Amino acid sequence: MATRRNVELGRMSWAEVAEIVPQNPVLLLPIGTVEQHGPHLPVNADNMTAQFVALGAAERTQAYVLPGINYGCSAVFRKFPGTIPVRQETLAAMIRDVLESLVAQGFRRFIFVNNHGGNEAVCEQVAREFKAKHGLVIGNIYPWNLGYSLLRDTYDDPTRAYGHGAEPETSAMMGMFPDDVLRERLEAGTYHPFAGWQVQNYNKITVPGQNVAATVHLDSDEVAPNGVTGDGSVANAERGALWIERVVGFAAAFVQHYDETTVAAPWAHAAKSAPAG
Ligand SMILES: [Zn+2]
Repeated sequence: MATRRNVELGRMSWAEVAEIVPQNPVLLLPIGTVEQHGPHLPVNADNMTAQFVALGAAERTQAYVLPGINYGCSAVFRKFPGTIPVRQETLAAMIRDVLESLVAQGFRRFIFVNNHGGNEAVCEQVAREFKAKHGLVIGNIYPWNLGYSLLRDTYDDPTRAYGHGAEPETSAMMGMFPDDVLRERLEAGTYHPFAGWQVQNYNKITVPGQNVAATVHLDSDEVAPNGVTGDGSVANAERGALWIERVVGFAAAFVQHYDETTVAAPWAHAAKSAPAG
């Protein structure tokens, strides 16, 4: 019986992994966090989605998916039960150690599939460290953010629908993991004033008479009590299927392009080890 190519590195034996090193494959590293996504979505939504998109992209290309890093920088949601933030230095250390281990074994080409905005600064920082130290050019795919761009034409009013715990997240989850969406608990949400401030989001407030927002750093629960900042009532599984098609489609196209354009690059080949003795 024919079996499809195993794209999950964590399900391969060391001997199988040893066999793919000479192919110099692209490795996808899912990165997420455990955080609230409204009363109706699982706290593991960022990780589930990162994994789903990484697997979908790998199945359409020659890439492999690494076991993911499931804890990230979600301090803004820390008061919501089930949210489990770690410090930026913790996440940076995890990504750095994972990459160093793989580089030492001869792998050179990596794309992060980071699905949480609060991790972005850390991902860029570590990518730049590896650029400076090893010459590597690391790619990055952000599924939720791609969905915002790629699904806009499917809404009458994307500004109203879009937001954390709203759209397109809810439709996407209905498409990927229908059993994990608590439809009866789905509710809309918006930013509320806080301490006399007109709040635009948990980092931005309006200054009277000014057109430019000012920055303050608030907790999410202080300005959006149910954790939702949009209207997910228009969510449906059909749009979720479209989300999968477009987001996984883009991710696969990027992985393929990265693969083809970096395979011959000098930095993409491990330095020949110095002769012993
Ligand atoms: Zn997130």
